[in-house]
Amino acid sequence: MLKSLLIANRGEIACRIIRTARRLGIRTVAVYSDADARALHVRQADEAVHIGPSPARESYLVGDKIIAAAKQTGAEAIHPGYGFLSENADFAQAVIDAGLIWVGPKPHSIRAMGLKDAAKKLMQEAGVPTTPGYLGEDQSPEHLKAEADAIGYPVLIKAVAGGGGKGMRRVDAPEDFADALTSCKREAASSFGDDRVLIEKYILSPRHIEVQVFGDSLGQVVHLFERDCSLQRRHQKVMEEAPAPGMDAATREAVCAAAVKAAKAVDYEGAGTIEFIADASEGLRADRIWFMEMNTRLQVEHPVTEEITGQDLVEWQLRVASGEPLPKRQDELSINGWAIEARLYAEDPAKGFLPSIGKLEAFMLGEGVRIDTGVTEGAEVSPFYDPMIAKVIAHGAAREEARLDLAEALDESIVWPVRSNAGFLVRALEHPDFVAGTVDTGLIGRDGEALIPPAMPSDEALADVAAALAEQPLAGFRLNAAPRRMVLLAVNDQKMAVAFPGSDSDDPLVADEHAVPEPVLLSEEGQTWLVQPYRASGTHAGAAGDGAITSPMPGRIIAVEVTSGASVTKGQKLVTLEAMKMEHTLTAPFDGTITELNATPGAQVSEGTLLVRVEAAE
Ligand code: ADP
Repeated sequence: MLKSLLIANRGEIACRIIRTARRLGIRTVAVYSDADARALHVRQADEAVHIGPSPARESYLVGDKIIAAAKQTGAEAIHPGYGFLSENADFAQAVIDAGLIWVGPKPHSIRAMGLKDAAKKLMQEAGVPTTPGYLGEDQSPEHLKAEADAIGYPVLIKAVAGGGGKGMRRVDAPEDFADALTSCKREAASSFGDDRVLIEKYILSPRHIEVQVFGDSLGQVVHLFERDCSLQRRHQKVMEEAPAPGMDAATREAVCAAAVKAAKAVDYEGAGTIEFIADASEGLRADRIWFMEMNTRLQVEHPVTEEITGQDLVEWQLRVASGEPLPKRQDELSINGWAIEARLYAEDPAKGFLPSIGKLEAFMLGEGVRIDTGVTEGAEVSPFYDPMIAKVIAHGAAREEARLDLAEALDESIVWPVRSNAGFLVRALEHPDFVAGTVDTGLIGRDGEALIPPAMPSDEALADVAAALAEQPLAGFRLNAAPRRMVLLAVNDQKMAVAFPGSDSDDPLVADEHAVPEPVLLSEEGQTWLVQPYRASGTHAGAAGDGAITSPMPGRIIAVEVTSGASVTKGQKLVTLEAMKMEHTLTAPFDGTITELNATPGAQVSEGTLLVRVEAAE
């Protein structure tokens, strides 16, 4: 077994690899960029080497710096994780040439699977069923069009060098083909430096089924069953599970055997994944599952396979890289229960899934699940890398148990002020197609809007938090009248009066001027809000400094007590506003003169409107 290992990656996967290495007594070396100087993987490793500025192309993607770091620390081997340099055959070769052990397949296996056309051709020769289509030997637009016509629409144009869901165009009708081809080739040239394309039949009701395979240096290959990764957003996986819903034993045997055949055809060593696409219009059928591509590395979603097989795939990788045989034979592997993984991202589903960066002031997830993460509370989510902050994995005896456990853990998550997709994931887990296990890759494209969580908490949740805040003995609430009934709250800066049960008075409860309670975080169905008890009466905070008195919330002006040019004394009533069933009197913050007056009785005003300006007396 290896004695030392450098991990050429960051975030959750670096932490994941360190965990197994440590258990096996292997010394670990982390590498890090400027942005990651205080990252969890750096703190967890035995040693860490700084490899450059924050952008990945100046640090995590610079092979020479990583090899130098391994040499400098005496690390024997390099584990690339996923992404970054993990499928870069030249880097793998450079690691080997430097006299180090590469934890991954041989460079020629990576190359064989690197281009989609060559990989498909190789698979066809090996007798692995591939998606019907044309491999693009002749790249003339006329010929490609003729091939598409012969395949029958819809078709998918794919860049042969494509990856990460890029460089693909669906074409539904012959007249759209030429334009789609031009734009696909343009994107392929700029993203991958290779504009060649292939054409595939576009599979309807497509499900993404993939098989985990493992090979060793003795030429043995086994599979560790399938995963279903059909829940995707823009061809990127959102949730993964194992086994695949609706997969019968015969179909499983056929697809897993095809995967082993595919891996053997490229002399495969280490962890790999064979991705298939299935036409599930009539369920999963062995004659409707086709090879799509091979990923020659450990996948993001490997934990679901670990959960159902009880194997540690990183340990397998390290043993195989050390020259040991595979830890288990095929007949020693079996499926135990069901596992589902959700990818938790720092992003805002309500804003088009915009990445959300900043400090994770609060970061908590529910219990009873496996959490693979690279961050802890207080960490910074930086703009430089993938915004995935954790993978949450539930394992149960049956699918429904795993589904409910995962939904509960996400439901209870608290992430603040960074936004997360937890609420979106909870809703996805509750979608009828997910519950039924019939998700196809188009689900989010069709129904995504319905999965966007609401902007505000439910009335019940607000009532609960209002009641709880009002009952804090030291919260500083002053009862205007008993029994209590309403509290003024600012929820993510949006001001509102919240009624809560247990009373029947219409009089609101306001926070005392001198003792405003601390804000609290309210979390519901995976969403988190900051709730700040809000003081509406008396001198409004906006008035304190500059004498600009603004409307604290939308409402109607019911009285104006001053005229322009008048002198006022501190605390004198200026304007009274009616909003949310109560009156708010705005008073002068200091002695002075009214220099601006924009308030007329009866007028409706929105929040933040400048009503009065007081200029301080000399
Ligand atoms: P990439 O290498 O960019 O990830 P893939 O070839 O793995 O591209 O395809 C990514 C996703 O695109 C698949 O998971 C599937 O959802 C969809 N897809 C790929 N090929 C087809 C096809 N022939 N028909 C329908 N959908 C497809």
